[in-house]
Amino acid sequence: MATTETRFFKNFIGGEWMDAASGETFESLSPATGESIGVFPKSGPEDVDRAVEAARAAFEEWRLVPAPRRGEILFRFGQLLAEHKEDLAQLMAREMGKVLPEARGDVQEAIDMSFYMGGEGRRLFGHTTPSELPDKFNMSVRMPIGVVGVITPWNFPIAIPSWKIAPALVCGNTVVFKPATDTPLLGERFVELLGEAGVPAGVVNVVHGGGREVGERLVQHPDAPVITLTGSRETGVSVLKAAADNLKHVHLELGGKNAIIVMEDADLDLALDGIIWSAFGTSGQRCTAASRVIVHRAVYDELQSRLVTAVERLRLGVGWEPDTDVGPVINKAAIEKIHEYTQIGRDEGAKLLTGGEVAGDGELAKGFYYRPTVFADVEAGMRIAQEEIFGPTTALVPVDSYDEAIAAANGVKYGLSSSIFTRDVNRAFRAMRDLQTGITYVNAGTTGAEVHLPFGGTKDTGNGHREAGQAALDVFTEWKSIYVDYSGKLQRAQIDNIE
Ligand code: NAD
Repeated sequence: MATTETRFFKNFIGGEWMDAASGETFESLSPATGESIGVFPKSGPEDVDRAVEAARAAFEEWRLVPAPRRGEILFRFGQLLAEHKEDLAQLMAREMGKVLPEARGDVQEAIDMSFYMGGEGRRLFGHTTPSELPDKFNMSVRMPIGVVGVITPWNFPIAIPSWKIAPALVCGNTVVFKPATDTPLLGERFVELLGEAGVPAGVVNVVHGGGREVGERLVQHPDAPVITLTGSRETGVSVLKAAADNLKHVHLELGGKNAIIVMEDADLDLALDGIIWSAFGTSGQRCTAASRVIVHRAVYDELQSRLVTAVERLRLGVGWEPDTDVGPVINKAAIEKIHEYTQIGRDEGAKLLTGGEVAGDGELAKGFYYRPTVFADVEAGMRIAQEEIFGPTTALVPVDSYDEAIAAANGVKYGLSSSIFTRDVNRAFRAMRDLQTGITYVNAGTTGAEVHLPFGGTKDTGNGHREAGQAALDVFTEWKSIYVDYSGKLQRAQIDNIE
């Protein structure tokens, strides 16, 4: 509830801070303590239209700014993020709930991305290639597209906006950014720092509000030809359908049901570290979280008992306390969903080894905390091994062979990340070939992407695009092929050069 202490924030459109046209607001609350983070405009279609118009107008100048100059603004932005790394991480621990080391990592990813994409300002390579005709020059170049609608989730509230906005800007596009309603202040800070770095008015606009009110309008707006969304599969499907009438470029990064495979020859100490980090880091709320652990039966009992011991040692608490291992989950709906899956697992006959309950004692009662949960004897087809839970729950699936492990790992509709722990180099290479995911780790958990490699997944995790690395440029540019004929006469391809 708003009090005299409450801080009020606005949308940022065409370089000006403004309330929602309706004057309505919503509040961002800390999942760690329930404290108010701030009050934000609950925007609607009118605000989106205004922001798209501002971005469309700004595009005409921004596209002509030399790409190296655009890149320099991203270098300054990366520098500002580095200067503000600690205060952004502290804010993230409060607004989103991550423990500080992970929150710092989230900001670091945005720093890395800004520097990487800043460098693209001096590359954005196209191709030159010979012509089939004499006295003719051929090349292909990347062209900016226009206004990019950026729709992001709450789980990487600084990193994910950077994956989208940094490449969009260096390629010469302008942006309307809709942050998640659970992390609006981090979205706001991101855009403030971009302004400080020198991004001109109208080039990046922020419109706060819900998916239905703001997101849908942005997706349907005829003057925003590119939509980049990270979110759930369900949202992705609805966005893709809504964008179809305008034949937009739609870039989707969606859910995951990632598996770690532990073979009988694995280094079990290493595998345990990988499982703990990947399954319970960010309270399991990473798209790359290891929500399945597929274990060879030869090491199944040992791994199970050692995992339970390690998991029961994890300390729950607010993210900014140094001895906290696992922070809260994002909100009430999340806790209810996670707990529902605990019930589903029990009903399906899986064995609950530890966790499976809301942690509501003492100070924890003020926030949304769920005990790290491990199910054993899970069959690959069970719902807890098939559906994205997005919480601190992992499922142990016993198998008898490499082939069975790969079949189980691949036997889900998602295809984001995968990992295998083995000391057998031949088997490791086979797994790199056989695992049907966009990312595969060998002797590491399922998380830990670096910004200069493509990031994204196969199957229902997306629609074939990738972010990060060079691959991201394909989302934010159109290829243009250019033919320059300096022969002084009309030369007809496929006709004049054929005898
Ligand atoms: P979500 O789908 O509920 O929301 C994501 C964003 O989409 C939010 O900003 C939301 O307001 C907006 N939105 C919702 N409905 C919309 C609609 N109809 N039209 C337009 N916009 C709409 O997801 P979430 O709960 O914020 O995030 C968790 C999900 O994100 C998980 O499924 C997770 O796996 C996924 N995720 C994927 C990646 C990846 O790179 N593959 C990374 C992080 C998170």
